[in-house]
Amino acid sequence: MLLRVTYPEVAVEDYYPLLSPQLVDELKSLAHEVKDLRFVHLNSTAIGGGVAEILQSLVPMMNALGVHTERVVINPPPQFFQVTKKLHNTLQGAEGTLSKDELALYLNTIQDVANDMQQRSLDADIWFFHDPQLLPLASMLPKQPNETRLWVCHIDLTAPNQSVIDQLLPLTSAYDGLVFSLDAYVPAGLDPSLPVFIVPPAIDPLTDKNVPMSEAEALKIVSKMGVDPKRPLITQVSRFDLWKDPWGVIDAYRIARKEVAGLQLALLGLSQAIDDPESLQVRDQVAKYAEDDPDIHLYFDATGLPVSIDRVVNAFQVASQVVMQKSLREGFGLTVAEAMWKARPLIGGDVGGIRIQVEDGVTGYLVKSPEECAQRIVSLLKDPELRTRMGRAARESVRQRYLLPRLAVDYLKAALARRANINCQSGLNGYRPNGFADLEHLRLEDAAPAKAAVKVRAKRSKGRSAA
Ligand code: UDP
Repeated sequence: MLLRVTYPEVAVEDYYPLLSPQLVDELKSLAHEVKDLRFVHLNSTAIGGGVAEILQSLVPMMNALGVHTERVVINPPPQFFQVTKKLHNTLQGAEGTLSKDELALYLNTIQDVANDMQQRSLDADIWFFHDPQLLPLASMLPKQPNETRLWVCHIDLTAPNQSVIDQLLPLTSAYDGLVFSLDAYVPAGLDPSLPVFIVPPAIDPLTDKNVPMSEAEALKIVSKMGVDPKRPLITQVSRFDLWKDPWGVIDAYRIARKEVAGLQLALLGLSQAIDDPESLQVRDQVAKYAEDDPDIHLYFDATGLPVSIDRVVNAFQVASQVVMQKSLREGFGLTVAEAMWKARPLIGGDVGGIRIQVEDGVTGYLVKSPEECAQRIVSLLKDPELRTRMGRAARESVRQRYLLPRLAVDYLKAALARRANINCQSGLNGYRPNGFADLEHLRLEDAAPAKAAVKVRAKRSKGRSAA
């Protein structure tokens, strides 16, 4: 039921030139303060989606700082993810209810995880359980003295489906603290005595996805993937998901293309998360909606790519004049920060976490419709100076607010604040050196999708069939 994710070694000093001296000092001093504690992050998938992306960078960085940090993922049956995807959708506002059977499957699966953890005597001083998938866990594990448990919710809870949130809220009371990406996501009806921390996510500037790439190299990569490097390109990088509104992106492209001859669109959904069973369906519907347009490039299968997925994402963001994230709901949107970090103006849906990342008219634009999105695409494509100015501002705002070390500082502060309050003593809590070592190891390379690339050629069909 549990896998320990191994990670490469990193040099934490490599982050420092990108940070303010104050942030570096704070990071080092907090890391020193927690050097005798063990942190564990538990989430539902090793790769795919924003949470996996954050943890695969955060965990090695914490260890490089001298903070004992483990990462564990669960390994449940596929039906579990059918239910949790429904949970995810309804918590983001979709209609529907969780049936008795679905609720039972969800709770029973997490009970199995809890049993496994107890059997293996896995323990920690600070637990971070990520997202609704893991929410019931704290209520199923007897609380150890000195232990602090935080639930981190990464999704957009602006307007959740009331019946589902009512079912889940009681589960939060087993936690010592809750972490949300934005103030606006803190649900009404929470126990007011439960401490809440607001911690927006962040990107890792040192991964292949985010390190500097020249435009020449980026163009070479995208042209190997069928894009004409001489014509304008706009891109959205996202799992194929209803909330990412790929249909709206295609609509915006179609309107903009009337004014920008030869415009090309790339939709990149190469890294589907295994906890997202709907993605194939969405992908097929989007492929139909694209109607064999040779200038709509849909990528969904990572087989045979010219370079790694991370470098492909980097290349498309760098090779695009404008990057979009036209989501209808978005907890945060790592892709937004990733594109802005490449000094590209970002056109984003005026929702959730995109609102805090994009300063409308300064670092990009917030839009409410495909028409508005198209209008912004056209004005940016026609004005290279505006693109450069916005792009620079975009990169600087990410540098100041959304790089990984700031996230590490916020998590450490939240953990320490709770420990101070519940009077914990320091020292590895019931330290059992082999508990984690005994878990089956998962190397990220082994979790990554096979290498072989397929570009979806859309089939003719009439219009969208979802969202
Ligand atoms: N991603 C990727 N390849 C793709 C599509 C997405 O590597 O083809 C990554 C993307 O770069 C980002 C993460 O998946 O790092 C998605 O995180 P985000 O917060 O934007 O959305 P989520 O999938 O968590 O809803």
